[in-house]
Amino acid sequence: MISAMIPAQLADTTQGVDTGLYRLRDWVWCLAIPYGNGVPTSNAYLLRGNDGGVHVIDPGSDSPRNRGLMIDALETLGVTPTGVRSVSSTHLHHDHLGLAAWLCELSGVPLALHPADLDDLRSGSADSRYSELTDDLAEKWGAPGWAKERLRPTRLRRSTTRLPHELTSLGDGSRIVVDGHSVTVIATPGHTSGSVCFLIEDEQIVLTGDHLLPHINAPIGRDGTGGATAVADYLASLAALADFDEWEVGPGHGYCFGPLGPRRLTARDHVLDRAHEVRRELDADPAATTWEVASNLTWGPGWENLTGAVMQSALAQTALYQRFVTHGSHTLTASPFRTTIRNIDRNGSQ
Ligand SMILES: [Zn+2]
Repeated sequence: MISAMIPAQLADTTQGVDTGLYRLRDWVWCLAIPYGNGVPTSNAYLLRGNDGGVHVIDPGSDSPRNRGLMIDALETLGVTPTGVRSVSSTHLHHDHLGLAAWLCELSGVPLALHPADLDDLRSGSADSRYSELTDDLAEKWGAPGWAKERLRPTRLRRSTTRLPHELTSLGDGSRIVVDGHSVTVIATPGHTSGSVCFLIEDEQIVLTGDHLLPHINAPIGRDGTGGATAVADYLASLAALADFDEWEVGPGHGYCFGPLGPRRLTARDHVLDRAHEVRRELDADPAATTWEVASNLTWGPGWENLTGAVMQSALAQTALYQRFVTHGSHTLTASPFRTTIRNIDRNGSQ
């Protein structure tokens, strides 16, 4: 079982972070690589084919230390970067693909991403999640004038991710050809519009990126464009994993776990609870602004403590939920969540 992972020789807790290379299966490895911003590590996955070639999924964020950890991990698997046959990512965030430019150039392979995330990366919209134009934001979200200063980010989190020269598309149903094994891509939009999971069929493991994490509920619509249907997409993408409820999960952060099913349902319930909360606010005042709705929701640090980019993120998420409960939920009619959603629509309760 994955849940009993044994660290290999790279385990390193000297900086208070459980980095290290873990062998999940004979040919499947997880490299927990340092990150930051409140999330200690990102997980890179290394798959070694029968021909000795290594395929890297989610290489992690870039730093001199992380480059060294990747080289060491590859060495443990018996290759140098020239032995890397493919590099793919579950989605466009730099904690998952920051190392890709360096690794792809050393190994001479392109970075493979879903076309929707490729578009967002190329257009730069992935960098425009947070804004200093607080007048515009206040107008968009109906925030009062005094709140503009609270919305101002202390520093703009512009991504400095350097992209590989060569990019390639990884659509739903694409396969990664790992010699002797089968790995298939399944599109799971929601966290970003181009988020995907990787199905390691021989081993019944799903690599989920940020779509499904063991201890954090994935933020939704984090691709810059903040797709209008992101909440409905996310729920449908959870439903799309129902066939793999008995499988194990290799997430983008945190520990590997299994089976998938119970966590899939708690992630769904978290979204439905939030939708219910927003629905309740809109029932009470159908003309409520995003600011007014958000100020009545429950927030981990407390609404009054949110500022800057964190507050912008909270308001953007609230706006997505507003769209979902007012006209997005009908897009779920074909999903297993139909009954629950319909109950929310009718009664404002589950
Ligand atoms: Zn992410």
